[in-house]
Amino acid sequence: MHKILVSSCLLGQPVRYDGQSKGLTSDILTRWLQEKRVVAFCPEVAGGLSTPRSPAEINVAKVITSTGEDVTIEFQLGAEKALALCKAQQIKFALLKESSPSCGRNNIYDGSHNGVKVPGMGLTAEQLVKAGVQVFSEEQLPELVSALAIADNN
Ligand code: SF4
Repeated sequence: MHKILVSSCLLGQPVRYDGQSKGLTSDILTRWLQEKRVVAFCPEVAGGLSTPRSPAEINVAKVITSTGEDVTIEFQLGAEKALALCKAQQIKFALLKESSPSCGRNNIYDGSHNGVKVPGMGLTAEQLVKAGVQVFSEEQLPELVSALAIADNN
């Protein structure tokens, strides 16, 4: 059975920038947890950032907080650690929080800190996709279920 890397905040862990979580209520996620195939991970915490922290957005090639701090290195470190974890545990699937500058799969904020979303990926999602991990957001659970069903049967 394939393991799944899951954003810690989707599992109810209070690791978001605001000290809150974004717990996902889902029967299938509950089942995956019971099957012990879920690996929780927060790239921003792993990259050395504290919680709570200032919200950050990707601005061209950098990640900048709402107070103007450059946290690109911490975000890159979190992405590298996520990839290392996937390689170490042979994780080929990920369920990541949409719109996050680390975990966003299909869209992110545009860097203006004005709440505007644009198509794009967070640093961790992008690194994992490039390495061949199949990454899905919480808005794509059915697609992840289908991909896992195919993989588990092979
Ligand atoms: Fe959640 Fe990812 Fe943000 Fe951590 S970095 S709080 S796991 S969205």
